Amino acid sequence: MTEQATPFWIAGKQVTGTDSYEVRSPYDGRLVATVSVPTEEQVEQAVAAAAAVAKETADQPAYRRAAALDHVSRRIAERAEEIAALITAENGKPLKWAKAEVGRAVSVFRWAAEEARRFNGELQRLDTDANAAGRTAITRRFPRGPVLGISPFNFPLNLVAHKVAPAIAVGAPIVLKPAPATPLTALLLGELLAETDLPAGSWSVLPVPNDRMAALTADPRLPVVSFTGSGPVGAMIQAEVPHKHVTLELGGNAAAVVTADYSAEKDLDWAAQRIATFANYQAGQSCISVQRVYADRAVYDRLVEKVVAAVEAQKTGDPADGATDVGPMISTAAAERVQAWVEEAVGAGATLLTGGGRDGASYEPTVIAGAPAHSKVVVEEVFGPVLVLHAFDGVDEAVRLVNDSQFGLQAGVFTNDLHTAFRVHRDLEVGGVIIGDAPSFRADQMPYGGVKGSGVGREGVKYAMEDYTYERVLVLTGI
Ligand code: NAD
Repeated sequence: MTEQATPFWIAGKQVTGTDSYEVRSPYDGRLVATVSVPTEEQVEQAVAAAAAVAKETADQPAYRRAAALDHVSRRIAERAEEIAALITAENGKPLKWAKAEVGRAVSVFRWAAEEARRFNGELQRLDTDANAAGRTAITRRFPRGPVLGISPFNFPLNLVAHKVAPAIAVGAPIVLKPAPATPLTALLLGELLAETDLPAGSWSVLPVPNDRMAALTADPRLPVVSFTGSGPVGAMIQAEVPHKHVTLELGGNAAAVVTADYSAEKDLDWAAQRIATFANYQAGQSCISVQRVYADRAVYDRLVEKVVAAVEAQKTGDPADGATDVGPMISTAAAERVQAWVEEAVGAGATLLTGGGRDGASYEPTVIAGAPAHSKVVVEEVFGPVLVLHAFDGVDEAVRLVNDSQFGLQAGVFTNDLHTAFRVHRDLEVGGVIIGDAPSFRADQMPYGGVKGSGVGREGVKYAMEDYTYERVLVLTGI
């Protein structure tokens, strides 16, 4: 281990281990930092501390938890420039999107503070049944116990915030395991948590290597596993710990639908702009990036022309340049995979409308049409800057095409028709339907999560708080 290795956090204290690894910029390979890795004994210390402090954490008054969350929110805002630059350095995300992510995390901690203040139970009269007359029930939610939070690389701050802030809000200790490619932002967040008076031991940030995760995931002292990441890893975790409370926020191949009524020039301009932006804004590495676009045949040709023009107008390159729209993917291997999938689709008859080139980890924003229904770019999660366009005839067919997927996270429907809006909300098999925008819209307080292969459970501050807790009823007799 080199002397400069970034320490990790055990029970609120900065510690180094005996091994370390390098975090390099996906854009130019430059060394961002060396990160210390916890030993097995250190992981044990973190878990033991979380278990030991669980009761004290649950009993901490709400006003103190809320104050800690407000503090973290304020401090993220104060250090926003520095944190955004760090996200860009380790993840390769263009600076303007890194700044947007930091702004969202400020809100997540603030929302969690507000929800901590109003997280109440309810009173239920039981005298509606003769055999329960004379009794009253009061329900309150209590933490299930310490949480293991496992986060992905694509939002190194905000998806960490979605694990940590709800845990603090309900009084549950948390052991956070950030993604190997992007641990630095989570470790920096530790500096802000350390400034609070949260109980010692109630939080740790551990960059544990993937091949040592099985023991941590299985540890009975962490009864809640909150996982955000890819489907195969999520499925493996669920199979490993079927008796635990597991939340899985997994991937998708999100669709945008443009209906025939959305035909005014300004409407199609808006739809094309939003589709192009949210196909490529993190080089396609968002679980709700636009991947599949279905446009009614009545507007298809005009939309295609506008989407291609909007994609070609995007500025690609150095993510640290504030004007860059599209930066690199997380690794050369990831970009090579996307390139192979596009080539496979083109080989099977798809038309390449723009893009297709690769330089290291940077894959050109790419638009293809006519990809066969079974091709990987349609069926799988591309997780890269690729749009696949199709025409449809009528809303029935659009619903069928969107639902013909192993995933179901969110869908965006560009329509001005209220009837169509209600109808697609009823019929689309997804966790969220966004009318008038791309499927990539997310407000951090709303329920967020998927159906089918996109996961189990919901995040969004209040919903994660419900997830981390269980209802315990108190029945009063004679009242
Ligand atoms: P990943 O599955 O490779 O890794 C996610 C996390 O799991 C990382 O911290 C990783 O170190 C950890 N991990 C890997 N192997 C593990 C194991 N055996 N046991 C326990 N933990 C293990 O995913 P990624 O590449 O970091 O992220 C991209 C994926 O995340 C995409 O599929 C994307 O759609 C999904 N995602 C989903 C959401 C959502 O909210 N639904 C949000 C963002 C990303």
